[in-house]
Amino acid sequence: MYKYAFLSKYLSAVRPPPLAGLLRFESNSAKISNCSFPARTLTQTLCLHTNTQNLSSKRRSQSQQREMKYVLVTGGVVSGLGKGVTASSIGVVLKACGLRVTSIKIGAAITFNGLICVADPYLNTDAGTMSPFEHGEVFVLDDGGEVDLDLGNYERFLDVTLTKDNNITTGKIFQSVIEKERKGDYLGKTVQVVPHITDAIKDWIESVAAIPVDGKEGPADVCVIELGGTVGDIESMPFIEALRQLSFSVGQDNFCLVHVSLIPVLGVVGEQKTKPTQHSVRELRALGLTPHLLACRSAQPLLENTKEKLSQFCHVPAANILNIHDVPNVWHVPLLLRNQDAHDAILKQLNLLSMAMPPSLQDWTMMAETCDNLTNSVRIAMVGKYVGLTDSYLSVVKALLHACIACSLKPSIDWIAASDLEEDSAKSTPEAHAAAWETLKNAECILVPGGFGDRGVSGMILAAKYARENKIPYLGICLGMQIAVIEFARSVLGLERADSNEFDTNTPDPVVIFMPEGSRTHMGSTMRLGSRRTLFQTPDCITAKLCGNPQYVEERHRHRYEVNPEVIEILEENGLKFVGKDETGKRMEILELPSHPFYVGVQFHPEFKSRPRRPSALFLGFILAATGKLEAHLKSHQNGI
Ligand code: GLN
Repeated sequence: MYKYAFLSKYLSAVRPPPLAGLLRFESNSAKISNCSFPARTLTQTLCLHTNTQNLSSKRRSQSQQREMKYVLVTGGVVSGLGKGVTASSIGVVLKACGLRVTSIKIGAAITFNGLICVADPYLNTDAGTMSPFEHGEVFVLDDGGEVDLDLGNYERFLDVTLTKDNNITTGKIFQSVIEKERKGDYLGKTVQVVPHITDAIKDWIESVAAIPVDGKEGPADVCVIELGGTVGDIESMPFIEALRQLSFSVGQDNFCLVHVSLIPVLGVVGEQKTKPTQHSVRELRALGLTPHLLACRSAQPLLENTKEKLSQFCHVPAANILNIHDVPNVWHVPLLLRNQDAHDAILKQLNLLSMAMPPSLQDWTMMAETCDNLTNSVRIAMVGKYVGLTDSYLSVVKALLHACIACSLKPSIDWIAASDLEEDSAKSTPEAHAAAWETLKNAECILVPGGFGDRGVSGMILAAKYARENKIPYLGICLGMQIAVIEFARSVLGLERADSNEFDTNTPDPVVIFMPEGSRTHMGSTMRLGSRRTLFQTPDCITAKLCGNPQYVEERHRHRYEVNPEVIEILEENGLKFVGKDETGKRMEILELPSHPFYVGVQFHPEFKSRPRRPSALFLGFILAATGKLEAHLKSHQNGI
C-alpha cells in the first residue's frame, strides 16, 4: 500500500515536478490530487498508468473545447454576510465586461439581511421539504427544481434561467454516490468521502458549469460558485476538499477564490477589527485553499490601514481587498465592486483581461439611484403565515419592488400575521387583533401569498373577504387563490363549511381538492412543480391584457391542491370567472372577479420570474390598481403606447 501522505510531502519538496514516468503508484486521481500538484501534469501522469478513467477523459475533452473559468465565493467568520449577493454581484460585473456567466450554489446561505442562519450545506436533497420559517423561501425554477433562495438572486441579478442541478446539496451528492454504489459501479471498492464523494462533487460542478443558462449556445465563460455556510463547518468539508482538488485540476489561470468576511467594529474603541478575517483566512489556507481576493463586509467603508493590515496578515494584495460596506439597497453592490476594480483583479487572476471590456453598468446605476430616491409610497398589506421571517416571501417582496419601481413608488409592506385577524385572536390577543385590522384597513392593496398548512387560513379568508367587499385590489398567489375560492363559496354561495381538503378532509363542500397525480406518502418533489402553460379563456380579462399575450402565459408552479373542477360552473354562474386554465382545460390557473377593480388569484407564482427591469405583469397590474392607474395603463397598452 503506497502512503499518499508521504507522496504528498515528497511532491511538495520536489521542484520542478518529477517526470511523470518516474512516479510509480496505483492510479487514483483523488489521492494524487490530494498532493496539491498541478492538474495538467497529473492528468498526463495518470494517463501513463491507468486505463483512462471516464472522468479524466471527460475533463480532457472539455478542456480541449474551452476552459471554464471558476470564481469560488466562500464565507468566513459568520453566516448571513451577504455571500449570495456578493457572488451574484461579481457575476453582474463580469457580465458587464462582456462575459457569459453561469452560477452554482452549494448548499444554502439563509438570508442576506441575516435574520436567521442555519448550517450549510444541508443534507436535504432539495429545499422543497425545508421550513420557510427556518430557511427562508423555497425558490422554484422553470424545470421544477425547489431550490435555495440564493438561486433567485442569481436569476434576478444575472437575468438567467437556472436548472435544479445548479443547486448542489450534500443530499444530492450522497444520493448519487449511494445509487452508484448500489448499482455496483464502484466494482467492489470501498466507497469513501475522498475520493468518491469529492469526485462526484467535482463532476457535478464541471458538468453543470457547462450548461448554458442565458439562452445562448455553448457553455458560459465564467462559472461563479457560491459555497454556502462558513468555512470550517463540518457540513462543508467534503465540498472544500473537492473545490481544493478542482482548483488544482483546472489550473491556476482558471480559478479565482473570493473570500467574504466580516470586519466588525468594537463599540468603545471604534476600531475596525481584522482578527476574525485573519483567522478565517488561516482556516481556509489550512484546508488548502488560498484566497485571491477578500470581500470585506463592514458597516462603514474600510480605512486604508485596515486594508494594509489585512493584506499583510492574509497574504492578499491590497488591490485585491474589496470592501462591501452597508449600502441603501443591494443594487449598489455591483457598483461598489466595479468602483474598486474588482473585475480587473478577477480577470487578471483568470487570465481573461484580453477578452473583457470595461464594465458598463449604467442600468444598475440607474436602478440603484432610482430606488434610493423614491419618495411616494404605496401601502401593501401582506397577509401570511410566515411573516416573522420576511425572507420566507423574498421573491414576492422583490417582485413588489420591481413593480413599484416601474411605477416610481416605494413599496411600504405591512406584514400581517393572518392569525391575528381571526376572531380567536380578538379574545386571546386583543391588541394584536386590533392592530392587524387597522393595518389591513389602511392598506391600498392586499396580497395573500403562497403557503402550506392550516395555520392562519381563517385570517386569510377574512382578508380576502374584506378586499372583495370593499373593492380593495387583491392578489392571491397559489394558496391566496385557493383562499379566494373558499371565501367566495362560503360568502356568496352560502356554503358555510366550504374548504380545501388540505385543511379539512371531511368538508361537505371541498372546493379545493388534492390533485390526483400527487403523492400522499412522499413530501419531497411530489408537487406540481415548475413552468407550465396557462391558456387564457378570453382575451377580455385583466390578466390577459396585462400579460401582453392574449393566448397564454408560462409561469412556475408549486402546489398539491387545486380548485375542484366540479364547482367551477356554480362559481362562474355567481360571478367568479376562471379566465386562465391549463392545457387540459380542467385545471384552474387564474381567477378574476369582473365586478371588482382588481381581484385576481393565480395558481402559479408570478414572483419567481419577475426581474428588476422586467416586472411581473401581474404585480405591475396589482400596484397600478392600488394607485388607481390600472385602467389608464390597460388603455395605453391596448393602443400600443
Ligand atoms: N398548500 C397549497 C397547495 O399545496 C398551496 C401551495 C402554495 O401556495 N404554494 O396546493
